[in-house]
Amino acid sequence: MQNMENEMKTASLAPPSKPKSTSKKKRKPYRSKSNSTQSNQKRNGRSHSSQQTQRHPQKHVRTAPVRKKPFPTEAPTSMEPAAFAQLGLGVWSLAAIRRVGYETPTEIQEKFIPAALAGRDCVGQARTGTGKTAAFLLPFFERFFKVKGNEFRTLILAPTRELALQIADEAKKLAGPSVPEVVAVYGGKPIHQQIRKLDNDPDIVVATPGRLLDLWRREAIDLKTFPVVILDEVDHMFDIGFRKDISTIMRQCQNRTQTLFLSATMPDDIMRFANQFLKDPIRVSAVPNDDMSVETLDQRYFAVKDGRKLPLLTEVLHREKPTLGLIFTRTKRGAESLGKTLQKRGYEASFIHGGLPQGKRQRALNQFRDGKIKILVATDVVGRGIDVPGVSHVINYDIPENPKDYLHRIGRSGRMNAPGKAFTFVTPSQGEEIMAIEDLCGRLLNKDVIDSFDNGIQRRR
Ligand code: AMP
Repeated sequence: MQNMENEMKTASLAPPSKPKSTSKKKRKPYRSKSNSTQSNQKRNGRSHSSQQTQRHPQKHVRTAPVRKKPFPTEAPTSMEPAAFAQLGLGVWSLAAIRRVGYETPTEIQEKFIPAALAGRDCVGQARTGTGKTAAFLLPFFERFFKVKGNEFRTLILAPTRELALQIADEAKKLAGPSVPEVVAVYGGKPIHQQIRKLDNDPDIVVATPGRLLDLWRREAIDLKTFPVVILDEVDHMFDIGFRKDISTIMRQCQNRTQTLFLSATMPDDIMRFANQFLKDPIRVSAVPNDDMSVETLDQRYFAVKDGRKLPLLTEVLHREKPTLGLIFTRTKRGAESLGKTLQKRGYEASFIHGGLPQGKRQRALNQFRDGKIKILVATDVVGRGIDVPGVSHVINYDIPENPKDYLHRIGRSGRMNAPGKAFTFVTPSQGEEIMAIEDLCGRLLNKDVIDSFDNGIQRRR
């Protein structure tokens, strides 16, 4: 608690270079689109003193927003699919659902959508792969169309670039050719392109915390203009060190009227954080308490000596012939070296990790999604947010360091209740680690063997 308070104190001062009074004076108030051109012209006509320029050397001068996507003129009439209509969604969001082809809501959607539509702060516990993105996007769509927009301008925070892009893609799919406008901002891409996109005051901004703060410090985005703030995969954001950044962002989003938290796990520190920033939140969970792992997934482990993992992997690939296989390693170097080895051995394989430039990561992901490569080797940070339908196999080539990561890894397969398999390679020194995973899952994993394969471990007679 003491630590948290200290952290909050620090966070409230961050960023140190940003004088409070300046931010107050210069930031535009949230405004309706009809006023935006006028206010932007005013802003652009303002001369920037040399003092200002020195204080904010990289300050961005915004140009007048041009709304490219119009509101459609005619409202749709159909109330199908009925199961979604029962959650309180109206014609506009139902049209978006028809566009993407969903027929029935998932568990998290059933629970989260009515809660979010009520306008209250909400905390939802759900894993990636359960339809949680649509669960928090659809209430936005519903209210956005009802009031034609501006009151529900939404900021979505996501831990990784991949997840930010996935969320933005899903929002764009739901939006189709009309409003709302969606922009994703994340590190690893030139910031100036993203600044230009923000000039148009998009209705939904999906961001990774670090890049968002960078943009905010450059005055390319006004965090006070977002009444709705959504934090996705909060546990993951905490795990990878974004806690302080998120505190800063939450403090700057001063005109929040609704905040939504989504997380696969809800440890005490996340609940404390939620209690600090959310007002009397509604809590919903789509994770069974006794078993967090995926029902449709066949989970097994192989015992193997360290030096025998690669031959075991090739045997497993030969036996299983995955349509799409995701292999996890602990380190970036491990992912790269295994990916390259598999390529040399003739597999349609690639690798992805946080050390690669964004373009390369995206290319590998797209190839995997399109089925051009069948095997993708990934590290936890990047692999965890991957939403690729049809992953038939997850192979934990290296057992995860943190048992919770096991759940995130295997959640890449068996998505939306499709069958899948998860294999974990366990070396003789990793007994404790597999037991910790079994404890967390509340079940014992079955042992698998390939009869003709010598795993390097002497069998007891
Ligand atoms: P998510 O948990 O948000 O990563 O969603 C996983 C996948 O499920 C995405 O590809 C979604 O487009 C898809 N999805 C979300 N909701 C539904 C639904 N009600 N019916 C079918 N597919 C869905």
